[in-house]
Amino acid sequence: MSDAVTVRPKDWVPFRCRLCGNCCRNLRGNLMPEQIDAYRLARFLQERGEVEYMEDFYTRYTYPDMLEGFFPVFLINTVDPDDSCVFLKDGRCSVYEARPRVCRLYPFTAFPGQRGKAFHFFQCMDSNSAHFSDGKILIKDWMYQNFSREDREFLTAESDTLLELGRLLKAMSTDGRKENLFQILYYRYYNYDLDQPFMPQYKENTVELKRILQELLRR
Ligand code: SF4
Ligand code: SF4
Repeated sequence: MSDAVTVRPKDWVPFRCRLCGNCCRNLRGNLMPEQIDAYRLARFLQERGEVEYMEDFYTRYTYPDMLEGFFPVFLINTVDPDDSCVFLKDGRCSVYEARPRVCRLYPFTAFPGQRGKAFHFFQCMDSNSAHFSDGKILIKDWMYQNFSREDREFLTAESDTLLELGRLLKAMSTDGRKENLFQILYYRYYNYDLDQPFMPQYKENTVELKRILQELLRR
């Protein structure tokens, strides 16, 4: 992580958002909504009548990709002329209340520590770092406002899940992964009822996907 520096909850950091929207531009291939982000965005867009169900969200607002050639993911669509996020409208975020965690935390970020016991926080020192020339925020307050208990629970669980799923998918043949791609997408991304809470569904889907992959590997 060459363009980020560690910060601690007690640190004061100069920061003021100038609402320039630059962090929402040049994002092609860079904004990967986590399942919890996709679920919140889908619910938000459902209320606007733009989305009916989870799969609909992925179809309309994202495109598929393969991480390291074997791990299926979705990335947020971008639009010309500057590869801005599909949700940037008239220079403002049109899904602000439901924006992904990385957008809420930016220009900071968080990663779970070992065994998910604590989080490590970082300040992103990218080309937008002019916003660090003014103002003042306390990292602890920033995280309190933008990094919810549900986000923390998800991120901790997801960091273990990614290791386990990565190991299982890597052990499968390319043909096996292709043949079972829909099952993988279904339990990883699509199988969410937008009227039910997220975390219990995430946990059930993850258990089921691991069981299916383990069974496929035993054949
Ligand atoms: S680049 Fe910085 S100043 Fe501009 S909108 Fe994003 S956070 Fe705000
Ligand atoms: S979701 Fe909103 S805040 Fe995040 S990149 Fe898109 S427009 Fe910007």
